[in-house]
Amino acid sequence: MKITNILKEKKVLLSFEIFPPKQQANFDNVVSAAKELSALNPDFMSITWGAGGTTKGNTVEIASKLIDFGTPALAHLTCVGNTKNEVEKVIAKMKANKIENVLALRGDIPQNSDSGSVLTEGLTHASDLVRILKDHGMCVGGACYPEGHPESANRQDDMDNLMYKVDSGVDFLTTQMFFDNNMLYSYLYRLQSRGIHVPVFAGIMPITNSSQVSRMIKLSSAYVPAKLLSICDKFEYKPEAMRQAGIAYATDQIIDLITNGVRGIHIYTMNKPSIAEDILKNIDSIIKASNEL
Ligand code: FAD
Repeated sequence: MKITNILKEKKVLLSFEIFPPKQQANFDNVVSAAKELSALNPDFMSITWGAGGTTKGNTVEIASKLIDFGTPALAHLTCVGNTKNEVEKVIAKMKANKIENVLALRGDIPQNSDSGSVLTEGLTHASDLVRILKDHGMCVGGACYPEGHPESANRQDDMDNLMYKVDSGVDFLTTQMFFDNNMLYSYLYRLQSRGIHVPVFAGIMPITNSSQVSRMIKLSSAYVPAKLLSICDKFEYKPEAMRQAGIAYATDQIIDLITNGVRGIHIYTMNKPSIAEDILKNIDSIIKASNEL
């Protein structure tokens, strides 16, 4: 089912993200995690495209398994590591597997590489991929960055480029993770002012072990509020307490977002069904009630 159609049916949507195995030997473990997550009945699940194009074939395979499990799938696809010809082949495989939703991404330029060596002609920005996917009738999402994309000279440039991407045919946006909801609210305000009105899914990363924080800051450049840093400091060597506090923090973010009218909550599950399940226990009645209001 297309995400645009789910958006017509429900006021608040919940989605989970998983990543494909880094090593082929772990493929079955990821499929098991996908099955457990699917049993929690999210509105859809997304599957990342291995950074730098690694393990790329698995994205389509896992997405098609999700469809078999009864969950709409959003397959990620990047410009990095693909030529136009390869993209066409992946799209054909997606169509053969009934995959209707794609998150179109440029992909990160791997360290020690330059864009010229990993990006090919006509496929240098996510918007190039968006246009190709729309020509194939796909429902297409794009990434956006409440705190600005790290490569952008300034927020205005980033917003202009986002506007161009949306105008290329994006149906919805998913945000980079953020830990301070005010960052998202001011960003949503700027999107509206710029005339960007497509639905936005808010990316929530539950921090359930303290070493995750430094890794996530490095990956996303997200601002980490003192409240979350204190949790990490306090419970650094108490894993159960850290897990519980991290789930409470993510829950708090989600409840605040839903209360303030955000329609899409996208949880970066890190392939851990138990974490998604614990968060869901805290918010299932809230989502149900919000869809009835
Ligand atoms: P773009 O939209 O192309 O933007 C990249 C940069 O170029 C920005 O600074 C933008 O302002 C600028 N720009 C865009 N268009 C133009 C233009 N026409 N002219 C000049 N400048 C322009 N990476 C993966 O490898 N696999 C994944 O599965 C994956 N999933 C992700 C999911 C989400 C929700 C997010 C937020 C990110 C994900 N990423 C993934 C990371 C993403 O690939 C990187 O952040 C990458 O650096 C940018 O991708 P993009 O699609 O936002 O690129």
